Amino acid sequence: MRGVLSVVGIGPGAQEHATPAALAAIAEADLVVGYTTYIKLVRHLIEGKDIIRTGMTEEIGRARAAVERARDGGNVVLISSGDAGAYGMAGLVFEVLRDMGWKRGDSPELRLIPGMTALNSCGSLVGAPLVHDFCAISLSDLLTPWPVIARRIDAAASADFVIGLYNPASGRRTRQIVEAQTIIRRYREGTTPVALVKSAYRKLQQAVLTDLDHCLEYEIGMLTTVLVGSSQTFVFEGYMVTPRGYTNKYTSDGDVLPGQRPGFSLVTGSNLSGEAE
Ligand code: SAH
Repeated sequence: MRGVLSVVGIGPGAQEHATPAALAAIAEADLVVGYTTYIKLVRHLIEGKDIIRTGMTEEIGRARAAVERARDGGNVVLISSGDAGAYGMAGLVFEVLRDMGWKRGDSPELRLIPGMTALNSCGSLVGAPLVHDFCAISLSDLLTPWPVIARRIDAAASADFVIGLYNPASGRRTRQIVEAQTIIRRYREGTTPVALVKSAYRKLQQAVLTDLDHCLEYEIGMLTTVLVGSSQTFVFEGYMVTPRGYTNKYTSDGDVLPGQRPGFSLVTGSNLSGEAE
């Protein structure tokens, strides 16, 4: 019998922020596989099911167990927090399937079910920081060499992206966030808004709005996402906001500024005609 492997992102924590599709996949499964913390977040949904819960460093074994049980006919759900395709288990599942020589149409049938990633949930708790170009960088150097990570931080900082830092620190890893702050500070003002969001939509949720020069004075750990503003990001009434750029083209009444045309490229000093979109 052809089994099913659902790779599910459950969102940040609270069930209201998991999608109905994610909850349905969990309800249908007979085996639930995941890191202990995430299993706990959905424990009320999985009574009576088989469960494989493992610690942080046992991901390969966990992915393999999930794939094998599903291949043999089980209905298996593999749980990631946030989105399984953003620093989650989805990539590893494909590597295991490739090793096994799996082809589309073979068992298991694969279902990839998206979830809300930490950037979205953490962003919503502090305002609208991601309204213009943003990127995500993980500071974990457990599987990626630090010089590669440092180069990406430098590139993102110099290109003025809003930067979401995943895995900023852990008990043993404390140096990376300090180095990241130093790199970003080379390109951005010390007053650049920075949000530290811990355990978004979970019990011990905490959100701090600070700035680049002061962000290291607060606790930053494994459950924190760090959002660093771009040069355009501002704080308004305790919210962190990155503008989309409307005021480059329109007045606050919605009138078009002199020389600009709606639906055409923004006219700047180096671009005097403006191209149609
Ligand atoms: N797949 C997850 C990311 C896993 S990497 C997702 O899409 O969100 C683990 C990192 O994600 C943590 O170190 C933290 O930086 C971030 N993270 C995940 N859930 C979070 C939450 N509820 N609140 C704040 N940060 C979170």
